[in-house]
Amino acid sequence: MPARVLVVDDILRNVKVLEAKLTAEYFEVATAMNGRDALALMAEDPPDIVLLDVMMPEMDGVEVCRIVKADPKLSHIPIVMVTALSEPSDRVRGLEAGADDFLTKPVNDVALFARVRSLVRLKMMMDEFRLREQTSSKFGVLGEEGAVLNLDTAGANILVIDDSIADGRVITSTLEVDNQVTVVTEPDKALDVARQGHFDLIIVSLLLRDSDGLRLCSSLRTMDDTRQASILVLIEDNQIDQLVKALDIGANDYLMKPIDRNELLARALTQIRRKRYQDRLRENYQLSMAMAVTDVLTGLHNRRYMESHLGNLVRRAVEGGRPVSLVMLDIDFFKVVNDTYGHDVGDEVLKEFAIRIQQNVRGIDLAARYGGEEFMIVMPETDLAVAQTVAERLRGYVSDQPFKVSHDVGELVVTVSLGVTVSGPGDVPETMIKRADEALYKAKNDGRNRVVVVEGPPTES
Ligand code: GH3
Ligand code: MG
Ligand code: MG
Repeated sequence: MPARVLVVDDILRNVKVLEAKLTAEYFEVATAMNGRDALALMAEDPPDIVLLDVMMPEMDGVEVCRIVKADPKLSHIPIVMVTALSEPSDRVRGLEAGADDFLTKPVNDVALFARVRSLVRLKMMMDEFRLREQTSSKFGVLGEEGAVLNLDTAGANILVIDDSIADGRVITSTLEVDNQVTVVTEPDKALDVARQGHFDLIIVSLLLRDSDGLRLCSSLRTMDDTRQASILVLIEDNQIDQLVKALDIGANDYLMKPIDRNELLARALTQIRRKRYQDRLRENYQLSMAMAVTDVLTGLHNRRYMESHLGNLVRRAVEGGRPVSLVMLDIDFFKVVNDTYGHDVGDEVLKEFAIRIQQNVRGIDLAARYGGEEFMIVMPETDLAVAQTVAERLRGYVSDQPFKVSHDVGELVVTVSLGVTVSGPGDVPETMIKRADEALYKAKNDGRNRVVVVEGPPTES
């Protein structure tokens, strides 16, 4: 699917020129001739990137940009400001509103396509994570996503690779107020330093005397320890070819020498913000993966995970492997704990109960919270006699030592009933769980605080 570009300009001729250029390069183009229409279009059908004219009547481009970047639903869409002005102060105003880049009119084709491609590529990758994040928050696992502009940028770790000592000083003095800045003036050492520092942002000069800055960028993009970092390259006005290559390799942004401090600061903060946004998406994704298989209260595996794990083990056992045993546990009279001491104390008991289970099973055993105050232990390669011994030991470990709770009573005696069974011919997880449940039911009926064992299906002869 072609990337979708929204072109916004109040002058029809400008819109048409950009539209023609982009369409010829196989982008899909939508257009708007004022800020309000642009915002309406974006809300209705978000594009992959926006080329936004700065000077427009009523609502100017900077204002549009600020609104977009403050909207959590739209803030991830890259915005390139297109401006006739090339004053650093205008750039800074745009960057502060959250703009991702600038193109100066008349627009240079090479720069245009390079910027659009690299920003779209980055967005596509982030979209992948955002999709997963949205799925997780729909299930209530994660909170609402925040806008990019609201992310804190302080305390970033910045590496500068530049053999110009004077420029190194300018960069350091501009950025070190809120951040940790490391300068490397010998490019040979750059990769070693980069590898060890957990850098959020790496600034690389493409004007190095004895070294190839592009090669450095390419290594930084591929090394495990640096490939998530933002890369900002420093170039000179006449280095458009170098710049295009750098963006192609994966540099995120560039800055022209001589360095304008305000622009440096604005671009650096934009990159740090982007890196943090990306980090957050990645962390949330990993968290939601973990949460999909974990019970939040006890940290044990959840029912879904346990059932799929049991499925694999039962299949293996039935196909001729060693048997798998299953223990089902249910705390006795747990409702009384809640009713007498409150739900919070009930939760404390559940957590301590989970800890005691964990302390009594082997590493390969899987303990899960099956629901409410019901738990399961799946024991691979374990016959019924061993499972019974483990269950009996666990029963004693629960009943013999009272549970400490944050209530006036201080501690509670807790008991548990356990049903145990083992896999046999023709078993599937459902039949095993049903037998364990029957055993547990019997343990309850027989007076609780006990273990009842049910054999597996008879072996075929
Ligand atoms: P039995 O000995 O027959 O198992 O009696 P019981 O009271 O333990 O069993 P019952 O199924 O009647 O009650 C279970 C209680 O567990 C009711 C429910 O409110 C409570 N419960 C379920 N999940 C949680 C939880 O996450 N936290 C707390 N505090 N209580 C929970
Ligand atoms: Mg119970
Ligand atoms: Mg129950």
